[in-house]
Amino acid sequence: MKLQYIDGERRAGTGAPLTIVEPATGLEITSGTAASAADVGVAVEAAARAFSCWAATTPVERSAALLRWADLVEARADELAAMESRGGGKPIKLATGFDIPGVVDNMRFFASAARQLEGRASAEYSGDHTSSIRREPIGVIGSIAPWNYPLQMAAWKVLPAIAAGNTVVLKPSELTPLTSLVFAELAVEAGIPAGVFNVVTGFGAEAGAALVAHPSVAMVSFTGSTAVGKQVAATAAGAVKRVHLELGGKAPFVVFDDADLDAAARGAVAGALINAGQDCTAATRAYVQRPLFDEFVARAAELMDGVRIGPVDDPATDLGSLISPGHRDRVAAMVDAARAAGAKVVRGGAIPPEFASSGGYYEPTLIVDAQQDSAIVQQEVFGPVLVCLPFDTDDEAIALANDTAYGLAASAWSRDVFRTQRAAREIAAGCVWINDHIPIVSEMPHGGFKASGFGKDMSMYAFDEYTQVKHVMAELTGVAAKPWHELIIGPPTS
Ligand code: NAD
Repeated sequence: MKLQYIDGERRAGTGAPLTIVEPATGLEITSGTAASAADVGVAVEAAARAFSCWAATTPVERSAALLRWADLVEARADELAAMESRGGGKPIKLATGFDIPGVVDNMRFFASAARQLEGRASAEYSGDHTSSIRREPIGVIGSIAPWNYPLQMAAWKVLPAIAAGNTVVLKPSELTPLTSLVFAELAVEAGIPAGVFNVVTGFGAEAGAALVAHPSVAMVSFTGSTAVGKQVAATAAGAVKRVHLELGGKAPFVVFDDADLDAAARGAVAGALINAGQDCTAATRAYVQRPLFDEFVARAAELMDGVRIGPVDDPATDLGSLISPGHRDRVAAMVDAARAAGAKVVRGGAIPPEFASSGGYYEPTLIVDAQQDSAIVQQEVFGPVLVCLPFDTDDEAIALANDTAYGLAASAWSRDVFRTQRAAREIAAGCVWINDHIPIVSEMPHGGFKASGFGKDMSMYAFDEYTQVKHVMAELTGVAAKPWHELIIGPPTS
């Protein structure tokens, strides 16, 4: 299969052979060739050529195109969901109920938002000039996406960029490019000109690095790990290139002693197991006030016992495969290390026996007695693993919640408005849920604090990333000798 979409057509890459496999079975879905650095250059040139025309379209034209595009994606929702499920190892009900509808909603949001770009009022701030603000697109955006929600992560980057008049070269993860390729084809079918949205499927070290470094890429928008994000930022800094980084997370889940215990336990297990825990906002560290701790752990264990592990195309499956056996082994090694360091694995902590020889399955895993400074508490596991730790005072809970390098998301559970408002104020994270964990809406921003990155996806705030503000100052008097000239060249001589 041709795995590149450049300037309105599918092309074969000139890089290394690339096989796309089903994470849940290890079977091949398709194969082709990856994008080389030269292919990335061709895609960037196409995007650069398309920029001036696309930037000159009116907001209503861009909005109309996005709405047509959304209709086309929605019409193929079932097919895209099946592709996302198969390619990502995720249960079909998650792809059908979350991934694809989320993308369609995002498309319609940005179609509307394209017509509402704002700046400050134009006015005569100096008295003698009218100052106005132009909010302009930046140019060619290099977008790099991870494999966990392939189409959603692509959409979060590509849609605000295109809605604001930029053109894009997207590099999806080499593991999960297939839905992004269809997404780009449908953009052209919707009337978005060839070259506005290109997809280069390739490896990070070659295609990703080439995209970040390309001199015609004006901005890099990256979603992925903090380690790679640092490399991207370092390269971009060398060219004073704008960057937007959506990086890792290690979300705390704080349960105060007046919380609804059942709601909190359900929220923690669902929040930890979504997408097999391969979610940057997943609930990973549950801090539970001591009077509720034992009951919370027992309830969470009971809920994990009910989780149905199965083939991803079975509508009853709750938990699918991790992205690869290699990633599953990394998760298993982190759990084993926690166990060796004295933590107790209350549930899971193993490969389900019935899936031992296929794919990257791992059991829902519940851990207690881990140390706050241990790797299982501090580092991103990106698997179906929830660690529960007790706390005594509210001060302690807030301090523990803030005690990792990350700051992407968090939640606080209590019936006391003062406690939840304090947690919302004092937890350093880009999103704090109160009495829930995970829901997102297109109208609200998503983005990190601390090592989770900076900049926002979704919402009107995304336009702050994908536009630049220009001040236009027009002189009104028509007088040649301005009073301020005297400060520099003296009074007029005639
Ligand atoms: P990753 O960092 O390994 O890869 C992300 C992307 O970067 C891939 O497309 C990869 O090919 C590319 N890449 C790798 N090396 C590169 C390089 N040197 N230069 C340029 N590009 C390069 O991450 P992943 O394993 O694909 O995804 C999981 C990570 O993504 C987790 O850390 C997760 O928390 C994070 N994530 C964050 C958010 C968020 O919104 N903050 C959302 C989803 C995932």
